[in-house]
Amino acid sequence: MDPSQLTLVQTQSMLRARQISARELAIAFLDRIDRINPDINAFITVDREGALRAAQQADERLHQGNATPMTGIPIGVKDLFCTENLRTTCGSKMLSRFIPPYESTVTRKLKEAGAVILGKTNMDEFAMGSSNETSWFGPVKNPWDPQRIPGGSSGGSAAALAAGLALATIGTDTGGSIRQPAALTGITGLKPTYGRVSRYGMIAFASSLDQAGPMARSAEDAAVVLQCIAGHDAQDSTSIRADVPDYAKTLYPRMDAIRIGIPTEYRPDNLLPEIQQALEKAEQIFRDLGAVLVPVSLPHTRYAIPTYYIIAPAEASSNLARYDGIRFGYRCQDPVDLKDLYTRTRTEGFGDEVKRRIMLGTYVLSSGYYDAYYRKAQKVRRLIANDFHEAFKSVDLLLTPTTPTTAFPLGDKIDDPVAMYLSDLFTINVNLAGLPGISIPCGTDAQGLPIGMQLIAPILKEENLLSAAHAFQTATTWHQRKPEL
Ligand code: GLN
Repeated sequence: MDPSQLTLVQTQSMLRARQISARELAIAFLDRIDRINPDINAFITVDREGALRAAQQADERLHQGNATPMTGIPIGVKDLFCTENLRTTCGSKMLSRFIPPYESTVTRKLKEAGAVILGKTNMDEFAMGSSNETSWFGPVKNPWDPQRIPGGSSGGSAAALAAGLALATIGTDTGGSIRQPAALTGITGLKPTYGRVSRYGMIAFASSLDQAGPMARSAEDAAVVLQCIAGHDAQDSTSIRADVPDYAKTLYPRMDAIRIGIPTEYRPDNLLPEIQQALEKAEQIFRDLGAVLVPVSLPHTRYAIPTYYIIAPAEASSNLARYDGIRFGYRCQDPVDLKDLYTRTRTEGFGDEVKRRIMLGTYVLSSGYYDAYYRKAQKVRRLIANDFHEAFKSVDLLLTPTTPTTAFPLGDKIDDPVAMYLSDLFTINVNLAGLPGISIPCGTDAQGLPIGMQLIAPILKEENLLSAAHAFQTATTWHQRKPEL
């Protein structure tokens, strides 16, 4: 059996029909990881023992007939979800030996449902980056071309899927980190509404923006994973009290009378022509499926990057203050006094991008600058959110490119932070407004590299995103393309 050819939904029925056992499946994936991961670097930690134990329990459950849709499904989890007794590094030297004493809500739900966690996936340090090159554990390679980046910060979760090393993965998205790597590796990635999935036990980057979500081979597969992880959690004060619909039942192959808005600001003149063409073809497919396409305007779009790069670093500087060498994480050798302990621990434990964000964030929060930068950014954030609420008075969904380019070569932007930040031009506003967004494959460039498109929906309308993505995937085969490995 070649595990890279399976989808989650196919595997569910194979497990139930006993055509395969959870144990055989786990071994097939673990062996493939052993063979391919050294070249791709998608996993920081592979938990063979834990996976085999979970697979055995899954087989017992399947045998007893009390399996859930996730029972026995091999998955990867971004390495910023605390997993009890399993190292959780956040891609940083600071936490390179951190073994959490507790479990995040997302991983607890997955484990309780019987999912088999194969390991923890690589990521940009503290989820800061768009290329996976800021990881202390080395860059992740794009399975479509190992000379290129897979996107970030959930690049390990994206590359693991594209390389067929798991049936689904979990990522997090603060400004695009699920959708952008999904687009650059040819997979499906969903960022839910802020508050839809619990942040408890997720190592914080920017708390008002961070959100966990599924990455998968199709919208249908992503629906199964979202079903498992979504829902209110008393341990996260920003978690939304709202029922979770049955996502698998809300997937329709048609889009009759669905109104899709095309925001004019998301089609800049310098957009890669192949991306422009792929989007135009996708629009025609949506029309053929019955949708009505209309132009809309989101006038504050161009303030996305400056607004985000005040708010996110401000929150990061506060969240990362806890890594002081005293309570947990890395501590420098032989400090001479307290100041030396703080200074050297943080100097040695954090990488350049993290330090840049801490300095920027501390600056915009400092007295005298708070009103000029931070408070102003919060006001602009409201204007950005209002643009979307206005647009959703006349349309059900928005369709945009996910990224301005396809996967770029390793090293291309790492010394130019602003060029790197612009990779998230089309995804960041969605986080600032707290909305759900999905990226799905919709074409390739001249070199065969994947192109993704983004659909955005109103608050808590994940089912509309999944349904539209599913309809598109019923009519196209882009999501079935796989790199040769
Ligand atoms: N690339 C953006 C950043 O560097 C977004 C990261 C993310 O979504 N975690 O902040």
